[in-house]
Amino acid sequence: MSGGAAPVLLAAEEVSKSFGSLKAVDGVSLEVRRGEVFGLAGPNGAGKSTLFNLLTGIPIRPDTGKVIFDGREVHQRSSRWIAQAGLKRTFQTEAVFDSLSVLDNVRVGHAYGRSGRSRRFDQARCRQALELAELGGDVNRPADGLSLIDRKRLMIASALVSEPSLLLLDEPAAGLDPGDQDDLIRLLGRIHDTGVTMVIIEHVLSVLEALAGRMAVLDSGRILVTGSPAQVLSDPRVVEAYLGPGAAR
Ligand code: ADP
Ligand code: MG
Repeated sequence: MSGGAAPVLLAAEEVSKSFGSLKAVDGVSLEVRRGEVFGLAGPNGAGKSTLFNLLTGIPIRPDTGKVIFDGREVHQRSSRWIAQAGLKRTFQTEAVFDSLSVLDNVRVGHAYGRSGRSRRFDQARCRQALELAELGGDVNRPADGLSLIDRKRLMIASALVSEPSLLLLDEPAAGLDPGDQDDLIRLLGRIHDTGVTMVIIEHVLSVLEALAGRMAVLDSGRILVTGSPAQVLSDPRVVEAYLGPGAAR
């Protein structure tokens, strides 16, 4: 990481969202710089996925606060507009169309992330995205036969096909065995090397240690700590948020 020199690509300013009396995201501010991998960790229910929802407008918007992507306010824009502006995401649960072929899944991602003439089906670009995601084999086979890691690769290819400048990944390593986790780390590193800025929500902390230049920990809807993975993961407040009061020595 080159430190503070890169411009800010995504900024959340005091973003909040309540569900009834629950403040799921409570005044979160953060900045993601162009070119970096930014990690987001925190206990279950901390508000991580909700924050991604608010950043992308899928399917909800903030109650208060602003989201600024690539210099433009996007928090009142449609999710589709945001995707076409270059901000794409994956989901915690593999959002794959089982009944469609591998290629047609990517085709859907292409149509969603593109506007006007550039929406037209571009088979070469779809194949390129599958190659970048390292999903080999027959592109016409149905998606429902894919292994877990290949479903993740397909979701990543569907997001990458419209060439986003920022990719948000929600727990990409969840459910993978250690060998597949290592493959995923290498894959995400290669995608980052192509120039894609990333925010990665992850419980598998080795993923963040390997890839993230900076990270934050969210707890009860608020940012607890931001810093390098080494700084953040040794912070007593973080240990306590994960393991409960008194756990930090
Ligand atoms: P994380 O991804 O950090 O595990 P989430 O963002 O999924 O946490 O959830 C944060 C909190 O908001 C949880 O208590 C969850 O139950 C609640 N929540 C999330 N989405 C909704 C929703 N659509 N309606 C009501 N409560 C929700
Ligand atoms: Mg989540």
